Amino acid sequence: MQLQKNIKTIEENLSGSDCKLIIVTKTRPVEVLQEVYDLGYKTFGENRVQELVSKYEALPKDIEWHLIGHLQSNKVKYIAPFISLIHSVESFELLKEIDKQALKHNRIINCLLQVYIAKEETKFGLSEPELVEILNNITSFKNIKIVGLMGMATNTENQETVRNEFKSLKNLFDKVKNIKTENIDLTEISMGMSNDYIIAKEEGSTFVRVGSAVFA
Ligand SMILES: *Cc1c(COP(=O)(O)O)cnc(C)c1O
Repeated sequence: MQLQKNIKTIEENLSGSDCKLIIVTKTRPVEVLQEVYDLGYKTFGENRVQELVSKYEALPKDIEWHLIGHLQSNKVKYIAPFISLIHSVESFELLKEIDKQALKHNRIINCLLQVYIAKEETKFGLSEPELVEILNNITSFKNIKIVGLMGMATNTENQETVRNEFKSLKNLFDKVKNIKTENIDLTEISMGMSNDYIIAKEEGSTFVRVGSAVFA
């Protein structure tokens, strides 16, 4: 009951926007994911490849899996057959490997490019010039599609800092969204987690990745 109530509250907070909820299920056991599934929710986010794959194997096959955490090139092959969206692409080399593995499975894998917006040094992501460089050099990759950008705000109580970081991602998105090619069509912005998803929605997010507020 609490689970359903929490999800409904988040959905209400997102209503009136284009923002879609990804339920972040990392560290939760398979039984809990099954419970969420049985309530009718099928879009799950995980941050570790091994955990994602074992949950994929254990659960119904109509679940849409999103990888939201750092991805190493040598692990792409494990998720290539089924992943819906990779949020955390932050290098040309990684994209090249995703393209190669997607081709093996005769798929096109949707990707977001992760941009560095936070003040913390620990956060992964591309700078603006690196982002533009990648967008200009991927025409040969036929089995990927770049559908948007992802960013993580600084982990702080200061809402203005967070809001400004989200604004900077939205501004960057607006700058590059007109780049349209066979494999680039930027429509999505993935920003916002349990503590800041309402701010993210207000600043133009289209995917919020929410874990602890769902399972509270
Ligand atoms: C864990 C995680 C989330 C969800 O965080 P909560 O604070 O639990 O909502 C979102 N995005 C990424 C990349 C994560 O690793």
